[in-house]
Amino acid sequence: MEINLSTLKDGETRHYDICIMGSGPAAFALALPFLQQSTKPPLRVAMLESSPAVGFDVQSLYDGVNAGLLANRLSWPTNYCLQSRLRTYGGTSNHWGGWSWPLESSDLAGDPVPPPWPIPYEELLGYYKEAQKPVMQLGAFEYDNPQYWIDHSATPLQEMPLPADSPLRTRILQFHAIKFQQEYGGLVRNSSLVDAYRDANVTGLETEVFGAASRVKAMVARTIVNRRPGQTNYFTAKYFVLAAGAVATTRFLLQNGLGNSSGHLGQHFMDHPYLNSASFTLNRGNIPDGVYNFYFGNAIVDPDQRDLSLQSLPSPGSSGATFIAGLVPKLGFLRDKGISSFRVLLGGVGNRPGTIQTNIEPLPTSTGTISLSDRTDPVFGQKEVEVDWQLTPNARKTGQAMFDATQQALEGLGYGSNFIIPQLDDRVWDPGLHPMGTTRMAAQQKDGVVDPNMRVFDSSNLYVASSSTFPTAGYQNPTFTICALALRLADFLKSGPPS
Ligand SMILES: Cc1cc2nc3c(=O)[nH]c(=O)nc-3n(C[C@H](O)[C@H](O)[C@H](O)COP(=O)(O)OP(=O)(O)OC[C@H]3O[C@@H](n4cnc5c(N)ncnc54)[C@H](O)[C@@H]3O)c2cc1C
Repeated sequence: MEINLSTLKDGETRHYDICIMGSGPAAFALALPFLQQSTKPPLRVAMLESSPAVGFDVQSLYDGVNAGLLANRLSWPTNYCLQSRLRTYGGTSNHWGGWSWPLESSDLAGDPVPPPWPIPYEELLGYYKEAQKPVMQLGAFEYDNPQYWIDHSATPLQEMPLPADSPLRTRILQFHAIKFQQEYGGLVRNSSLVDAYRDANVTGLETEVFGAASRVKAMVARTIVNRRPGQTNYFTAKYFVLAAGAVATTRFLLQNGLGNSSGHLGQHFMDHPYLNSASFTLNRGNIPDGVYNFYFGNAIVDPDQRDLSLQSLPSPGSSGATFIAGLVPKLGFLRDKGISSFRVLLGGVGNRPGTIQTNIEPLPTSTGTISLSDRTDPVFGQKEVEVDWQLTPNARKTGQAMFDATQQALEGLGYGSNFIIPQLDDRVWDPGLHPMGTTRMAAQQKDGVVDPNMRVFDSSNLYVASSSTFPTAGYQNPTFTICALALRLADFLKSGPPS
């Protein structure tokens, strides 16, 4: 059901098995497996969403201080805290691009960039496959097999004939910019097991000490009336999950003094450095049509592969799953150079073939942080965040190696000449709007904030579903991984861990 919190009595308490803060991709992916359950009695789930109605946001509550490389930006995003996320039903999926590809096994192994993730890749792979169509509505799970797309495309496609010793290889990127509340809100509305509360601003937790750890008794949610705090309601549950996006989740833990026994909370802030301003002269006459279609255009693919045709790069919000071939590094190249990973798209920035769309894997740094600022929000008077983005010298080194390898490959094939690569100082990169890393997952409490099951180490029943748990970032857009991890968490909670 969908329920406006204001329809409850002030002070009333509601009881559930699982209570989720947020309604973005992470929250929906976590809730979907509970819509139909065969176990008796079934688990009941509440999603608590801040915005009062579809299409309304409470965005001013997301304001904050932009520090480090985010301060005084002249180009978009000029205000990272506001522009990297949306505080509304469906969360930031209301204006994301739907770019999706899974992390690779080397990303989780910490090879060549530590730390490794404390979960086996094979396990995550299973959840990627589970998320691929039912949650993300993408095409076939074929990211490392260009031949699959060549064989199934109505439009001629051909793999780029890179020499065997090239440091680059082809990987497939898929796009489908679904709005999660649009796709799955109806299922929740008609469900007797999952309830979505609106105008439910989670402002705190009620906890009790329980042995060495604390235990959450209730999540506290408040309405907003005339820009002032309205009534207060309480949600009890066996398990509580913070799925409010990386920045808001980290802020919430900091505000509540939870999760920081190791000192890692708010540390290791990462976002993907993007650079779209490199360009070259495209020697179109030398590029076979199939290669041009595959790497420089991109193809529509029906999720059931019935209808394949070409279109230009999709804009945010466009419908239908699409794909493009990108270039990524071979692992040996990364090891030899001692750099992190990257990806290169030649589809053209704003449909201008000859421009290069890149991003590189950021490294966790001790200086990149999310912390509480001195400013308070305009409704609840709670401390706003300060987000400080920093890059390590690795960014310059990785960027240089990426552009050298790309230039060499395209010149070698006669596809491009006259390369113009900007000076790679830290200010040249734009943040990808993918906040990650600040509630790091680790095998041991001393190394992170959440355990491999995404339970906050200091708490017996508080969990995090967010990119904030990523120990490393890869070059991949994060939402597919967020949703795969949320499905994994759903399975774990279904098995009934101790609370
Ligand atoms: C312009 C843009 C383009 C992007 N494109 C891509 C892309 O192509 N591919 C990709 O993988 N990623 C992309 N991203 C990132 C992607 O949007 C996020 O990874 C994804 O939305 C994260 O999902 P989430 O559920 O963790 O958080 P969010 O989607 O941010 O959802 C958080 C939810 O928590 C709610 N909330 C917050 N605080 C409270 C509170 N106190 N009480 C109650 N509810 C609260 C919010 O209202 C919201 O519903 C893009 C981001 C932006 C900004």
